[in-house]
Amino acid sequence: MTDFVIYLGDVITANNIMIENASLYWDEAISPARNRGIPWASVFGNHDDAPFEWPLEWFSTPGIPPIRCPPTTSSHSGEEECSFKGTGRLELMKNEIKNNASFSMDGPRDLWPSISNYFLQISSSDDPKSPVAFLYFLDSGGGSYPEIISSCQAEWFRTKAEEINPDSRVPEIIFWHIPSKAYREVAPKSGIPKPCVGSINLEEVAAQEAETGIMKLLRERTSVKAIFVGHNHGLDWCCPYKKLWLCYARHTGYGGYGNWPRGARIVEITQKPFSLHSWIRMEDGQVHSEVVLS
Ligand SMILES: [Zn+2]
Repeated sequence: MTDFVIYLGDVITANNIMIENASLYWDEAISPARNRGIPWASVFGNHDDAPFEWPLEWFSTPGIPPIRCPPTTSSHSGEEECSFKGTGRLELMKNEIKNNASFSMDGPRDLWPSISNYFLQISSSDDPKSPVAFLYFLDSGGGSYPEIISSCQAEWFRTKAEEINPDSRVPEIIFWHIPSKAYREVAPKSGIPKPCVGSINLEEVAAQEAETGIMKLLRERTSVKAIFVGHNHGLDWCCPYKKLWLCYARHTGYGGYGNWPRGARIVEITQKPFSLHSWIRMEDGQVHSEVVLS
């Protein structure tokens, strides 16, 4: 039984969506969790608020095909239902958090336009006040602004972590979409030799544009156990980096590039003693790439 789902960004490919309110597609994408009554949280990827990209072939003979904008639930009709600019992160998030089962947040205002920055506490089932782990979610940008985790976001993480977990007693787990440059340092050259664990290594790491300090903070905090990212559909490994683990999830949805079989990364947390196990479960139920992260 799944207790919680984390959507690691690129929930929709907005550059293919010519519609005023892309939240309609977002709602559809998260509906498998919602319909099963499973709570979830999400972060943004580079495709979620990307503007519509006109296909080049539309501009060849016999000319641009007539624009057909998908119907929306709004009472408006006509041209205002078409959108070439994408639906903004803030709007997508505000719509998502209308769902009671969503634990996503639109983050501190002083970090905008970066939106999906927040943390969640996992509590003990015996004692709801006792934290078992803190999950941190960061917006790694892309789409409407550069692919980056800014120094302001790093500072927000540092301040928050020191405030709620001053002695680093509680383990911390980190989630964002676009891998940091550190992923390139640990990426296996070919195959996936130990100590890395995974099943596909068929792409170059497509890293963020710059590194402004978040990785230094994370590797120096003893309580940080692992970072999980999405973005590269052809990579699903976990590799150690200093004293933490850098992990990819597994491409789950049917949008985006690549035809590698779909799956999902499972993360299992136990409390006493604390442990963090992970593996990948494929769409057909097959399980592989089990790894102990803490
Ligand atoms: Zn991406």
